[in-house]
Amino acid sequence: MSAEEGFERVVVTTGERSGWPLAIAVHSTHLGPALGGARMWHYPDSAESVADARRLAAAMTLKAAAAGLDLGGGKGVIAAPGGPAPAGEDRRAALLDFGDLVASLGGSYVTAEDVGTGAGDMAVIAERTEHVVGLDPARGGSGDPSPVTALGVVAAIRACVAHRFGIGDLAGVSVCVVGLGHVGGRVAAMLAAEGARLTVSDIEPTRRRDAPAGASWVDPGQAMLTPCDVLAPCALGGVIGHGEARRLRASIVCGAANNVLTSPEIAKGLAAREILYAPDFIVNAGGLISVYGELRSLDHGRALELARGIGTTIGQVLEAADGRGITPLEAAEELALTRLAPQPAAAV
Ligand code: NAD
Repeated sequence: MSAEEGFERVVVTTGERSGWPLAIAVHSTHLGPALGGARMWHYPDSAESVADARRLAAAMTLKAAAAGLDLGGGKGVIAAPGGPAPAGEDRRAALLDFGDLVASLGGSYVTAEDVGTGAGDMAVIAERTEHVVGLDPARGGSGDPSPVTALGVVAAIRACVAHRFGIGDLAGVSVCVVGLGHVGGRVAAMLAAEGARLTVSDIEPTRRRDAPAGASWVDPGQAMLTPCDVLAPCALGGVIGHGEARRLRASIVCGAANNVLTSPEIAKGLAAREILYAPDFIVNAGGLISVYGELRSLDHGRALELARGIGTTIGQVLEAADGRGITPLEAAEELALTRLAPQPAAAV
């Protein structure tokens, strides 16, 4: 166990039951407990798994701060062996090991589901620690965060459209939703209900039947280059690199996917082409808000209200970016860092 530069704590261990490498990075508890998911993934070596935990934990600090939540940033990694997705007793052993590691941090880190884990896994972790959220509603948990995430994404799209085109609703606005999964499917349905002109896409052809009535379908290979007012990436991250940034035919990029840009530099390329990029870590904060509601026992209506507030935050970020001649990504990072800065002592 150790503290590492820029992190409050990084714990790395080998699970007693499973023998699997485990890591938890607590980046910051300045605003509250470090909340962040437990990722179960296969890594080439344990150094890479720790690096992933660190990178993701730092991003959680920014996400929570920008969303105005009294939460810090952390992330856990359960490094699974290669091959088929772990199941049965091996999986259970690793989750119990991870639960013990979470418990050892005494509440400074709170875990939740992430890539490779789900509500059932959180129930196993809960056998070893109380510092876990994302449980099934039957167990008093907040359940699937996707509806809350989708609400925040649509609020953010509305704010971007108001900022860019000066119009207050989405009727007639053309939106291309790429990825019709848990979040994207709901985003598409909500946009259709508001009268947006939809184009949708998914690599899974059967999702086509779930598309809202009247939506056009585009081949996934072409989807990112669809001419539209708003491109909403709701599938995987890393989909806009230098090449795409030069070729996109949208006025606005605003979607649920995490880490949409392959590097922060891409934000400058988009700004140079006057494409408004809404920073993903603000747009998709509804997922975090959902588990935050569970942690703080908020009424569901309050969680939804916080998710709608993402639209207001995006509006502020875009104003700040315009006013200061910086990109929305830079403005969003500044907003988060302002909240994280130590407050001056009150005068006596
Ligand atoms: P999901 O797995 O339910 O849906 C993803 C969809 O994208 C699937 O239907 C998949 O077939 C499709 N897809 C994958 N690659 C594609 C491609 N190249 N082109 C078109 N479609 C493709 O995932 P989700 O929960 O809806 O999350 C979507 C994104 O939002 C992810 O990046 C996730 O990290 C992010 N996110 C989700 C939440 C949440 O509450 N679920 C919260 C914050 C961020």
